[in-house]
Amino acid sequence: MNASGREADAPAAARVAPPWLAPGATLAVLGGGQLGRMFVHAAQSLGYRVLVLEPDAAAPAGAPADGHLRAGYDDAQALGELARRAAGVTIEFENVPAAVLRRLAQGGAGAAAAPVVAPPADAVQLCQHRMSEKALFVRAGVPCAPHAAIAGDDDLHDAALDALLPGLLKTSRLGYDGKGQAAVADRAELAAAWRRLGGVPCVLEKRLALAHELSVIVARGRDGACVHLPVQQNLHREGILAVTQVPAPDVDAATATAAVAAARRLAAAMSYVGVLCVEFFVLADGSLVANEMAPRPHNSGHYSIDACDVSQFELQVRTLAGLPLAPPRQHSAAVMLNLLGDLWFEAGSDDARAPEWAAVLALPGVHLHLYGKTEARRGRKMGHLTVTAADAASARAVALEAAARLGLPAF
Ligand code: ADP
Ligand code: MG
Repeated sequence: MNASGREADAPAAARVAPPWLAPGATLAVLGGGQLGRMFVHAAQSLGYRVLVLEPDAAAPAGAPADGHLRAGYDDAQALGELARRAAGVTIEFENVPAAVLRRLAQGGAGAAAAPVVAPPADAVQLCQHRMSEKALFVRAGVPCAPHAAIAGDDDLHDAALDALLPGLLKTSRLGYDGKGQAAVADRAELAAAWRRLGGVPCVLEKRLALAHELSVIVARGRDGACVHLPVQQNLHREGILAVTQVPAPDVDAATATAAVAAARRLAAAMSYVGVLCVEFFVLADGSLVANEMAPRPHNSGHYSIDACDVSQFELQVRTLAGLPLAPPRQHSAAVMLNLLGDLWFEAGSDDARAPEWAAVLALPGVHLHLYGKTEARRGRKMGHLTVTAADAASARAVALEAAARLGLPAF
């Protein structure tokens, strides 16, 4: 399989920048969703204890964690306890208030010694806002979609917006899985959509003709060492990731190299520490356009658990703990299928059904990951399935068969 993750900024020799957190230490994660759950798994297998801060008692990360503080992300008492008990703090959800991360890192949450916090508060704050993300793309020389800020009524009358229509209006904050977005064809639709989105600060982006979508996951340590996973090709359905294929079937080597270089440049520009995912579009003319960033592991990197010798979640542990970042190597071709709550319902009705797990587990190289969510809802991420194989064609063939057996569309 193709090796990846070369060209670290720092020498390959094991360098451990102080402070490093030895196995046995307690790490905390803010947020309790599936990304937190997979972080818990990775941290525990390296010998760490994990504390989850998450208000929902039934959240996926709560069950495997060594401790679950059931409180809001800004609950002073819970943050004080977390700072006393944890030597390192990370996030699995980018909308944790940046001020909380800042206070934790400065020792303001009541602990004797401030915990190590990664990713840094400033980088998380930047990634929380689509306009500041775009500003960083521009500053780092990474092309992005033509766009304009829509902060108030006046902005809707700007003549320059014509060049961005038809476009996509996206709330600047709190969007995910295509939520907080509206397709707008003309001025009238734009004004209506902006009001429908609550009249909050938005970004209007020109709708681009996408040939493909990619993502790149980098992991950057406190000493600036940076490694990456192979480039992932992503298929979205209705704004939600549906399929990730690695190696990326439609991406040439030059595009892959450019995407990795851009992601590394963005991480360095933010003095980033942790796992960062950058989403890209490839346009019909082959050009590469950055879409958005996630300051955490990403759904498109889940295949790394089964197909790489170090997963994105282990990279998150290593960057937080200050452990060496060995370059990841993909040892199997992989196709990941997201398992949304729709699978728990009969097609076109509200009647519940149980997905046919035995039928897909009978196929070779199928790795089923379910997040322990008790309530299935349409569009809700309930789990994923990664097919690994010796080559991309075999992984794809088995994944297509798995999709058919589950009732998922082909890709
Ligand atoms: P989210 O935070 O919901 O992931 P994105 O900005 O990544 O929001 O948009 C979700 C999906 O919508 C993208 O993966 C892509 O398929 C589509 N999309 C977003 N922006 C554009 C654009 N400017 N032109 C064409 N398609 C887009
Ligand atoms: Mg996205």
